[in-house]
Amino acid sequence: MDTGAGSSRRPAGVAGAVSPLAAQVAAAEIQQAYDQLPIALLVNLVNGVLLAVILWGAVSPWAIGLWLALLTLVTVLRYALLFSFRRAPGLAPGTAYWRRRFVAGACAVGVVWGLAGSVLFPASSFAYQAFLAFVLGGMVAGAVPLLSVVDRAYPCFAVPVVLPIVVRMIELGDRVHWIMGLMILVFGVAMLASSAQMRRVFRDAVELRLRLSASIETERVLERMLRTDALTGVANRLAYEESLAAEWRRARREHGVLALITADIDHFKDYNDRYGHQTGDRCLIAVAQAMEQGLHRPGDLLARIGGEEFAVVLPNTPPAGALIVAERIRQRVLALHLAHEAVSTDEQVTVSLGVATTAEPCYASIADLQRASDQALYRAKRGGRNRVALADGDAD
Ligand code: GH3
Ligand code: MG
Ligand code: MG
Repeated sequence: MDTGAGSSRRPAGVAGAVSPLAAQVAAAEIQQAYDQLPIALLVNLVNGVLLAVILWGAVSPWAIGLWLALLTLVTVLRYALLFSFRRAPGLAPGTAYWRRRFVAGACAVGVVWGLAGSVLFPASSFAYQAFLAFVLGGMVAGAVPLLSVVDRAYPCFAVPVVLPIVVRMIELGDRVHWIMGLMILVFGVAMLASSAQMRRVFRDAVELRLRLSASIETERVLERMLRTDALTGVANRLAYEESLAAEWRRARREHGVLALITADIDHFKDYNDRYGHQTGDRCLIAVAQAMEQGLHRPGDLLARIGGEEFAVVLPNTPPAGALIVAERIRQRVLALHLAHEAVSTDEQVTVSLGVATTAEPCYASIADLQRASDQALYRAKRGGRNRVALADGDAD
């Protein structure tokens, strides 16, 4: 086994030109290989014991005992490898490190089974020879799904298993053994081809899975961006319209009250003229954050619906409640103490807010509710700004 020193200790994906996807595929392969290792260890040990039991009497007991001891030793070492893999945090010290050890383990056990084909070859009994060939063929076939995941692991196992018994068969020289030897060889080559194919299929499947989860994540991010205002980070007009339509329907269905607040920063044109657009943008961000802090219920939604205009959708909120929320928002913005030395009422940035709710049955459509809220905002502006006004219908 190698020591895994030097560059092999780099974490996966760091080395040179390895793309993140290739590094992820390599990591998934290693994980899969080690996940399957317990089955491989069990099959090896059980088949080894059965082979020893059946060949007992047909070949030297010493050879059988030594071979079984060797198989047990390799199995224990591979188990120790599995144990340390499971304890390693996040595939540290790197996929290359674990791959080399996995391939070395496959190689070692392949050599042990190859030894069985040579040392435990029962020269005098054709039936036992056929049985040995059957067991080794079974090992070579059974290892295809277990070892094909990792590059080179399968050939490193299968070649040492197949070659010694082929040599022993051909050595006997007669026609039947020649044919059997060649058949085992052909079978070995077919299994190598099958393993290479399986490896490609596995790699494609892992790659597809990784690409799919990456594109699902991208979709989620885009979906979020689609409904978020790029400047302030609060919901945008699309999210507002969707929320308002959904809450309008819900209020109708459940006979609840939906409230809508429309808010507008006072004298914002003057603010921009005086402080510049960049400061104006920073002001918008601060105001949006302050407004958001005025909302406490999970269903409430604040959206930026225009340049310096905001809307707040409040499900299940009667006029008195909506007025409290609007006033809280106004106070929050006031508490920012953002200087506005142009013409602002209080020489600081303020907002005016208009409130309308579906408690007033004369609003037959969403547009009516929006219009009422806008008109209330207009009244707040006319009344001197930095204040909250309730729509006419609601105030009755
Ligand atoms: P009122 O108190 O009546 O609301 O006056 P106002 O000046 O705020 O209203 P008006 O609608 O006349 O002007 C809105 C201004 O908001 C126009 C523009 O200077 C500014 N504005 C709109 N969108 C943005 C933006 O995205 N960034 C910045 N910095 N300013 C914006
Ligand atoms: Mg405006
Ligand atoms: Mg304004």
